[in-house]
Amino acid sequence: MLKCRDVTALGSDHLDGHTSTAKKLQVQLHLMICKHCRRFVRHLNRSRQTGAAIARRLWRGDDQAAARIMESLKKPD
Ligand SMILES: [Zn+2]
Repeated sequence: MLKCRDVTALGSDHLDGHTSTAKKLQVQLHLMICKHCRRFVRHLNRSRQTGAAIARRLWRGDDQAAARIMESLKKPD
C-alpha cells in the first residue's frame, strides 16, 4: 500500500500517465481511500491547467486575460 508521501511524489507522473500499470492501480487505490491525496491531486491538476492556460495566453500576447486568471487565483475556493 502506498503512503501519502508516495502518492504526492508520484502526482505529476500519475496525471501525465507516466506510471506503470501496477503503480497506477496502487495510486488509484490510495486515492479511493484517502481524501487528502484526492484533494492534493485535484489541486495539482488544477494548478497545472491554470499554469498552462496562463502560458498559452502570454504566448499569444493576451496580457489582460493572463491578469484576469492571476486575479481569479487570489479568490478562495
Ligand atoms: Zn494519502
